Amino acid sequence: MIGGGTAGLVSAAGAASLGARVALVERDKLGGDCLYYGCVPTKTLVKSARVAHLMGRSEEYGIKSSSYEVDFPAVMDRMDRVIRRAGEQDDPARFRRMGVDVLLGEEAGFVSPEEVSVDGRRLDARSVILATGSHSITPSVDGLQEVGYLTNVEALRLRRLPRSIIVVGSGPIGSEFAQIFARFGSKVTLVSSSPLPLPKEDAEVGEVVKHVLVADGVTFHGGYKAEEARTESGEKVLTVRNERGEKIEARGEEILIAAGRAPTAGALDLENAGIELERKGLKVDGNLRTTTPNVYAAGDITGKYLFTHVAEYQGRIALRNALFPLKTTADHRVVPWTTFTDPEVARVGMTEDEARKEHGDDVKVFRQPFEGVDRAIADGETTGFVKIVTGRRGKILGGHIVGPDAGNLIHEIVLAMQKNVPIQALSTMIHVYPTLSQANQRAADNYYREKLFTDGTRKAFSVFFGAKRLLGRG
Ligand SMILES: Cc1cc2nc3c(=O)[nH]c(=O)nc-3n(C[C@H](O)[C@H](O)[C@H](O)COP(=O)(O)OP(=O)(O)OC[C@H]3O[C@@H](n4cnc5c(N)ncnc54)[C@H](O)[C@@H]3O)c2cc1C
Repeated sequence: MIGGGTAGLVSAAGAASLGARVALVERDKLGGDCLYYGCVPTKTLVKSARVAHLMGRSEEYGIKSSSYEVDFPAVMDRMDRVIRRAGEQDDPARFRRMGVDVLLGEEAGFVSPEEVSVDGRRLDARSVILATGSHSITPSVDGLQEVGYLTNVEALRLRRLPRSIIVVGSGPIGSEFAQIFARFGSKVTLVSSSPLPLPKEDAEVGEVVKHVLVADGVTFHGGYKAEEARTESGEKVLTVRNERGEKIEARGEEILIAAGRAPTAGALDLENAGIELERKGLKVDGNLRTTTPNVYAAGDITGKYLFTHVAEYQGRIALRNALFPLKTTADHRVVPWTTFTDPEVARVGMTEDEARKEHGDDVKVFRQPFEGVDRAIADGETTGFVKIVTGRRGKILGGHIVGPDAGNLIHEIVLAMQKNVPIQALSTMIHVYPTLSQANQRAADNYYREKLFTDGTRKAFSVFFGAKRLLGRG
């Protein structure tokens, strides 16, 4: 295995448990991006930012609080403690006890398809799994290198809260960071080439997220591309321009780039093994096999669905296919994901637009705003909605939730899609009252409402009840 992030660790542990001889090469630390520079630290900061936000709203809940202060170094110390705690699972000693030969601090590169060089040492391998992840892309902006910028890696090493920060890119990473910094008290400008944040999501979702970010104090410039950076009176100035040629100058103490990811393959000498790399990731077939038959790939390096849960899934599939002759196809039909802004944004399957392109008039959409869900009202968290996109006979094609705990709520829809359970079942299943999951049920109830309460059925019902009354049984 090359790369000791989620995909590499899952494959290595699986291989060792099956009794295979396995070497795991990691140039940095076991745990990868998710543990050190991604999911774990950012979700820890999301929580601190939420605590700060709730303290600012405490009087809404009848709690009078004197003023509060964000102690940024203490926030970051907590983040480090969380990383240490979560990282206990990824201790190299634990993997060595499993029987994995862990080679740490070394970069691996191919000599040939069956031979990998690690710091001058040659390792022979019948199969190789590549799991070297991805890294932040830097857009070409004049002057940016000279002015200096942060990526997620440096942002998570800050020990002093920037007074102001320009975030470039409003995908999940940029949007999460923008909200975190704003809630800690930085003046945040979010520059996005798309008109709305989270451009891959349903436009309705993006509208809600924009509204929420702006309410948190973020200045949002949608539809603008960064053009030029310079320093002026100790401040970083970023010139951004939209399609109409209109120009804005954003100012900040720091610039954080979150403008996309690229596969990390630079040091691998892929050409020595005939492995093809495309712009987004390694070229792989349905079995996660690269263009070289004994080399498989898993995780961000494949360029498909850059999420930890997908890296874990692909790590298992790649391992199975690397070890056994009978091949398993990776099934990416039902892949959920969540952006951990507050409220969260969760998605599985097609957006409404995608579904309409593929299924035309068969598409129906059922919504439930959290405003109509008792638990959300009790919690004072009513922003957002559940939106379920269906095709013929109630088949669920997509689920979109923007709202409290969306990342957990989506799983009911994920299971339904995975097991081909139609939307009707979400309506008839008993959901606990009062829970947020009732938003899923209420959205599904609308299926029956629409189906039953047509003019025809209304007429039929009125005839039926009229007859009952006449017969004296009504
Ligand atoms: C800010 C941020 C927040 C995120 N939040 C979430 C989230 O909330 N939920 C979610 O699901 N996903 C999230 N992600 C995505 C998630 O972190 C990745 O999808 C996941 O880490 C991919 O795992 P991986 O094993 O493919 O790669 P990685 O975790 O990147 O591991 C690759 C490893 O390979 C090593 N390596 C690279 N080249 C070599 C070489 N030549 N030799 C030896 N070692 C090498 C690297 O050092 C690294 O440790 C986030 C990402 C970022 C950046």
